Amino acid sequence: MSLWDAVNSVPGLLAVAIAGVGLIVGSFLNVVIHRLPRMLERQWQTECAALGSGENQGDLAISPYNLLVPRSRCPHCEAMIGALDNIPLLSYLFLRGRCRHCKARISLRYPVIEIVSCLMAAITAAHFGSGWPAVWAALLTWSLIALAAIDFDTQLLPDAITLPMLWLGLLLNSQGIFVELDSAVFGAALGYFALWSVYWLFKLFTGKEGMGYGDFKLLSMLGAWLGWAVLPIVILCASVVGAVVGLGLIAFAGRDRAKPIPFGPYLAAAGWLALLWGEPLSKLFMGGATQL
Ligand SMILES: [Zn+2]
Repeated sequence: MSLWDAVNSVPGLLAVAIAGVGLIVGSFLNVVIHRLPRMLERQWQTECAALGSGENQGDLAISPYNLLVPRSRCPHCEAMIGALDNIPLLSYLFLRGRCRHCKARISLRYPVIEIVSCLMAAITAAHFGSGWPAVWAALLTWSLIALAAIDFDTQLLPDAITLPMLWLGLLLNSQGIFVELDSAVFGAALGYFALWSVYWLFKLFTGKEGMGYGDFKLLSMLGAWLGWAVLPIVILCASVVGAVVGLGLIAFAGRDRAKPIPFGPYLAAAGWLALLWGEPLSKLFMGGATQL
């Protein structure tokens, strides 16, 4: 019996294993969330410089900056973070949330992302039980966490995540892992064009941009993974929660109403709910719609 078969033969063991991996993945997601937007910014600057005078081209190319290089440093004292201080969750607890060298507070976000990556992946894996669908569903969960956090920070939903995940969803469903292939293909197309139409209608009537192209691609990705049938409930959930939170922020937290509110985190959250409970949620929605 292979290790894979052994893990799958004990109920719940795969979910526990995925929870453990989730802590490590969460630590990696922290790097992705922090660095990917900066990598894209550098890339745009390089491209702009190349289009322009061409004088500044050299500056950015000199120091490599990607997910692996340079090594992580304390943002306050610039001290390199050693391997021992980089253990997911445990290092944070051991160091009591402070840098070993300068004692500056380490953002609570790092352990939070690690715990969220661990728990949400474990819930997902437990929901799917055993086998590869549990692993793929955990992968979708992690990418949604990264997208939500990056959009929250920077109002960007990088193509570097949405597009490969869209294709992966179609590939998986060519084997019918989550839904039939035709449902996935329609889901991908419909997800894109649904928000694309909303975007242009909104722009036509108000002259403003209500969301970005990243939102279309994220919904397209969700359609590719989960099929077209869950899209109405995903859009509905994301819009309602987004509107409530957005209005609440404007009313109670004094948020500037002209400042755009990212839609991606709500789409990602609704997508995750649909991954787990898409069918009952859709039935509830359809049932409610027919009663009106
Ligand atoms: Zn420090």
